Amino acid sequence: MTRWPPAPISGLPTEVTVYEVGPRDGLQNEPEVVSLAVKLELIARLVAAGLRAVEVTSLVRPDAVPQLADADELLSRLPASPGVRHPALVPNLRGLERALTAGAREVAVFASATESFSRHNLNRSRSESLRSLAEVAGHARQAGIPVRGYVSMCFGDPWEGAVDQGEVVGVATQLLAMGCAEVSLGDTIGVATPGAVVALLSRLAGAGVGMGTLAVHFHDTYGQALANTLEALRCGVTTVDAAAGGLGGCPFARSATGNLATEDLVFLLDGLGVATGVDLAALARTSLWLAQHLGRPSPSRVVRALAASLDA
Ligand code: MG
Repeated sequence: MTRWPPAPISGLPTEVTVYEVGPRDGLQNEPEVVSLAVKLELIARLVAAGLRAVEVTSLVRPDAVPQLADADELLSRLPASPGVRHPALVPNLRGLERALTAGAREVAVFASATESFSRHNLNRSRSESLRSLAEVAGHARQAGIPVRGYVSMCFGDPWEGAVDQGEVVGVATQLLAMGCAEVSLGDTIGVATPGAVVALLSRLAGAGVGMGTLAVHFHDTYGQALANTLEALRCGVTTVDAAAGGLGGCPFARSATGNLATEDLVFLLDGLGVATGVDLAALARTSLWLAQHLGRPSPSRVVRALAASLDA
C-alpha cells in the first residue's frame, strides 16, 4: 500500500480518538447475523489495528435485536486488552445489570433529540427516556463504570424533518449533567452539512459544553460525513465515531451507506497528519475479511480503493 506524505492544515487537533462502533452499531444494522467467533475475531483484529475504543455490543432484548443476542457471552469472553476501552450499550437498568454481570467496564446510553424518534425507537417519551437513563447513569457511576451518552437525530429526523438545535443542546446537557463522561452527537439519517455542524457545536459551546466532552457520529448516507468531520475538528472536537468498512447501512434510507467508514476517516486523518494510532492497511484487511462473512462488499471508498493492493 502506498503511503502518501501528510499535508497538514492549521487549526486542527494533533491527535484524534477514533471511537469504533462497527461491532455494535454496525452489526446491529446488518441483515446477516455473524457468529460469536467472528465477532470476537473482529474485535481482536480492530484492537490489533490500533483502535483504542471499540464499542462491542448492546444489551438489548435478544428477540428485538437477534444480531446481538450473544451480548452477554461476548462480554464475558472478551479478553482484557490493557489501554483499550470496550463499552457496551445498555438501554435500561436491566441491560446495565447484564453488562456488569458479564464484566463490562464501560457502558453507553442512548437518547433522542426528538420526541418522534424517542416514541418510535425507544417506545417512551423523551422525558421518560431521560429519567430512566439518569437512573442507569447513577447506578453505573456507583459501580465505578464510566458512561458515554448518545444523542440521536441531532440534525434531521425521519418523522419531524429539521431538528431544532436548542432541543439537541437540551438533551446533550442533560446527559452530561447525569454524569456522562462523553456525549456523542449522532446524525442518524446523515443529512447534516458542515454549516449545521458548526452551528450546533457553537451553540453547545455557548451553553458551556467543552468540546473535549463531545464526540461526533456522522453517517455518510448523503456523502457528507468527512466534510462534517473536518469542520468538527476545526471546532475542537477530538473524538470521532466510525464503523470499520462502513458497517451498518442506513435503516432510514435503505442505503448501503450508513456509518462513516473508519478507513475513510483514517485516510483523511493520515493525510492531514493527525495522529490516530490506527494502521489503515490492517484495518482495511479486517473489513475485506468481514465482508466475506457478510456476503456483501464494504461500501467504504477507501476499502474498495485499497482492495486490489491489499490482496496482491
Ligand atoms: Mg451510527
